[in-house]
Formats: sequence, structure tokens, C-alpha cells
Amino acid sequence: MIDLLKKFIESNWVIEKAVRELVERLPLRFRYGISYGPTFRHWLGFLKESEKWDRDRLEAYQLEHLRALLIYAGNNVPYYQSLFQEYGFMPEKVQSPKDIEVLPYLDRRTVQEKKQQLISANVPARALIPLYTSGTSGVPLVIYATKETEEKHWATIVDLWGRIGYTPKTKVVFFTANIRRGKKENLPWNKYGNTLVLSSNYFSDEWIDKYVELMASFEPEYLIGFPHTIAVFCSHMRNRSRNSISRSLKGVILYAENIYEWQIGIIRDVLGVRVLYDYGMVEKVIHAGSCEHSVAFHLYPQYGFTEYLSLNDSTYELVGTGFINYAMPLIRYKTGDLCSKARKVCAKCGRYYDTFTEIDGRMGDYLITADEHIVSVYLDTDFSVLEHIQRFQLYQDLPGRVELKIWPADLFHFGEARRILHEIKRSLGSNASKIRFDIILMDNMKSQTTGKYRMVDQRLNIRNFL
Ligand SMILES: [Zn+2]
Repeated sequence: MIDLLKKFIESNWVIEKAVRELVERLPLRFRYGISYGPTFRHWLGFLKESEKWDRDRLEAYQLEHLRALLIYAGNNVPYYQSLFQEYGFMPEKVQSPKDIEVLPYLDRRTVQEKKQQLISANVPARALIPLYTSGTSGVPLVIYATKETEEKHWATIVDLWGRIGYTPKTKVVFFTANIRRGKKENLPWNKYGNTLVLSSNYFSDEWIDKYVELMASFEPEYLIGFPHTIAVFCSHMRNRSRNSISRSLKGVILYAENIYEWQIGIIRDVLGVRVLYDYGMVEKVIHAGSCEHSVAFHLYPQYGFTEYLSLNDSTYELVGTGFINYAMPLIRYKTGDLCSKARKVCAKCGRYYDTFTEIDGRMGDYLITADEHIVSVYLDTDFSVLEHIQRFQLYQDLPGRVELKIWPADLFHFGEARRILHEIKRSLGSNASKIRFDIILMDNMKSQTTGKYRMVDQRLNIRNFL
């Protein structure tokens, strides 16, 4: 009996571990998002209620929460304690969002270098959830959040995706690069509950046919992924004369990187469904997305306060102060993402949210193999290998050849460059063998005043390889 029980526990433990590992390979929003505690429900309800508020009421909400965050940071976060002192800034006296303009902007490098001082002293270490990202910039960062932060973040996503009918019970197909299960790497697909995960590392004629069949029997309602990944998938489908997935399919949800007309065109052509954009970040200072009627990005005023740093007449850098992460508050954080001029309301849905039509700053990260296949780069890495570097970049101007540029920090030694390359190759799966990599160590990083560092500096045009 005990043996049987032991076996039962073991087998369930294996299943649970496999599921957990799979979920942990999904983007962070999925990983910590699958939590429906009281904060999640409360925040979702609040978003639904407050989306009907007028502009005055939303601005009053923002001022109240901006002031509360500043007071909290001044009392609990060492970095801001000394910053406020240095600038003679008194948070309790803030009367208008403009009052924060006396404070300097916060950039990615400062967050990288001062991460310990940016953590709130009154959040117990065991409550901190580390979230790693190199984003699309190649500058590794760790952001600390709490369960409450993650629940609010996930509720924001559920609210946004809900605009085209998504609920957490909906069946979805999720595209990613490297799929792992236990020790197995680079699986072509996996299934977890109501999510079917497909690997973009397997986009070949043979697998496209298999994926289409898998989806036909799975009957998903939504496809989720990066615009270039889903556009490449649709291009393969078109080349195979496949033009539908399942009658159950209702929409496509795209993580906003640069979204091009041709990508939307090919997705609509092949799949014939509506498309929703989602713009967010691990740093959690801004979250935005399209609405039921308009493709413009609507910024959630409840999520954070956004400033538009003017770069020229028509381009602004998004600068965010997030309201949902008190564990590591980021105040006036430069996202590196650029947008067009914002309006204060969406005429189509009537929400008094800031909206803009274009976002720029997140190029689709892809590499081209020697046999001219497109490979998505979604780094699924052991982030400890990035500990002693300031930044890395993959540079490509010839199919099948890539330079891995590394800007070392203190304590770096060359063995680490090999480990970084090993991790990158692991993320690329079998495609890695079709690319020759050269490691190049770079001199100190020049500071970059505007725009975003790019993890992939791709000089080849993806359209020539579709
Ligand atoms: Zn709208």
C-alpha cells in the first residue's frame, strides 16, 4: 500500500514538475500569471469599473497613486531615499504629475547597477519573485516583484485580451522558440491544460502540416505570439496552400514588437480573424493594447503614469512610473520604446486612456540560417551566465553567419563568453548548427541617450526569406 502510494505521489510529482517546467519556459506573464487570488479578482473588477471613468477622474486617480508611490519609495527604498535628498524632493508635496519632472530619468543601466538599492526594505526577501529579462535589448536585468504585483499584471492582461473574448479558460495556441520538458530540450510541441505550445524552431514544410493538423483537433480560439513569428507561420501556411486552422479560431493576440502592415496583412489573409496587440514589459511600468474597435495602443492609466519624452516633432520615448510593483518601484523609467503623439481618448471605444497608433523599439528578433530559414530568437537561458556582462548583441549581415558581441563587466573571463554562446545555441535548438558564430569582445559601452539597445542587430530583410 505504501509502495503504491509512493508510486502515486511520484508519478504526480513528475507530472507536476513537467507542467511547472513547461510553464516556467513560457514568457513571464504566463509563468506567474496563472494565479487567481483575491488581488487578481479585485484588480480585474477594478479595471472593468474604472474603464468607464472620465478623464478627470482617471487623472485624479493617477495623481493619488503617483504621490502614494513616491512617498512609499522615499520611506522604504534606499535608492530613492538618497535621490530625493540629493534633489531636495518632497513626495508629500506633490500637487501635479509635473512635479516629478525635477527628478532624473531612470535608465536600464542604472537599474542593472543599483538593483539592490532599488528593492524596498520592507518587503521580506522570501516574498520577492525575481523576473529576468534581457528583453530585446541584450542588457540583462533582474526585476523583483511580489505575488500581488504578478496578480495585478495578469489581471491587466486578462482584461486586455478579454476585449476580443479571451478568458483564462479559453483554449489557446502559444508560439515560442525552445520548448523544454524535464531534461528534454527543443521539443516541437507540448500541451499544458488549455494551452498548446508550438515551437517556431520547427517551422519547416513537414512540421507546418503537422502543426495545422494538431491545431485542427485541438480547436483553439486564439493564437498568441510575436508578430514576426505568427507572420512567418502564416507565410509557411500560404506556401503550403493551407488557409485555415479551425472553425473555432476567433483571433490572434500579438505581443507588440514592431508590427508591420505586411505582417497584419498576411495574418488576416491566411487566418481571416481579428488581431489584438498587447504591449507590456517585465519592468511593469506601462501596459497597453488595442481595443474592440481600434488598432491604436490604449495605455492603462491604472497601471502606471506615462510621460512622453519628445525626441522630435512626431516621435516620443515612453517613460513610465509603474503603480503595481512596490517591491522595486521604477520612477521615470526610460523604456527605450518610441511612439507617435498620444491622444487623450479613443473615439471608437470611448475610453479616456492615452492612445497612440505606432510603437517602435522592439524589432522582431530573428536570425537567418545558412539554408535561409528564419529562426526566432527568444532567449530561454540560464541568466546566471549573463552576470558579468553589461550587454551582448547578435549581429548578422550574411545568412548563416552571426557575430556575438559582448561588452564585459567586472569579473568577466573569456570562459563566460563560451557559456553565453552555449546558452544562445541551446535556445535555438537544432537550427544553431546551421549558423556559424564568432565571439567578439567589445570595449566599454558608449552611453546611448535615446532609443533601445538591440539584442539582435539584423541587417538582412526578413521579407526576402519568407
Ligand atoms: Zn478604443
